[in-house]
Amino acid sequence: EAIADLVASRVLDVPDFPKAGIVFKDLMPVFADGPTFRSAMDAIVEHHGRGSFDVVAGIEARGFVIAAAVAYAAGVGVVPVRKAGKLPRKVLSATYALEYGEATLELHADAFTADQRVLVVDDVLATGGTAAATLGLIEQAGGTVTGFSVLLELEFLGARAKLAPREVHALLAVA
Ligand code: IMP
Repeated sequence: EAIADLVASRVLDVPDFPKAGIVFKDLMPVFADGPTFRSAMDAIVEHHGRGSFDVVAGIEARGFVIAAAVAYAAGVGVVPVRKAGKLPRKVLSATYALEYGEATLELHADAFTADQRVLVVDDVLATGGTAAATLGLIEQAGGTVTGFSVLLELEFLGARAKLAPREVHALLAVA
């Protein structure tokens, strides 16, 4: 698919970041190139269909960039899913395991009106821990997750199975 090739051409592999032995996928060049960025954002909107979601939730921090662009293109609003301690009002929290240690994500408890249809976006789907925590938080807050899109899925980590039966939409999947 053309969009997959376009994204692939803008992904940089960074060895030993953030620590030795890890190859970090840098998606910044996708954001930095105008035509690629626009094509990627349009592909996300088109996959789900304009009018099929009421709000876009972005996962801190690169997910914010995607959420804002997708929401603007679709004419809907943005809700941030943030790292612990950043949101000023009453929050719902989800703590999940990382390879070493744990992380906590938060969402304003009143982020959604009843049954609002939420499209969730992030840059990279790796183990799926971040996505699973986010989708759980959104449902706890009363939102209905109607889609989940990422620019890049690291298929070999098996997140898709972890998130089943939810659909995962990835512009590019690498084995
Ligand atoms: P997961 O929870 O293991 O699926 O990791 C996904 C989260 O970590 C997302 O919010 C990504 O932004 C970030 N992440 C994990 N691996 C990478 C990577 O190789 N490049 C960029 N972001 C990554």
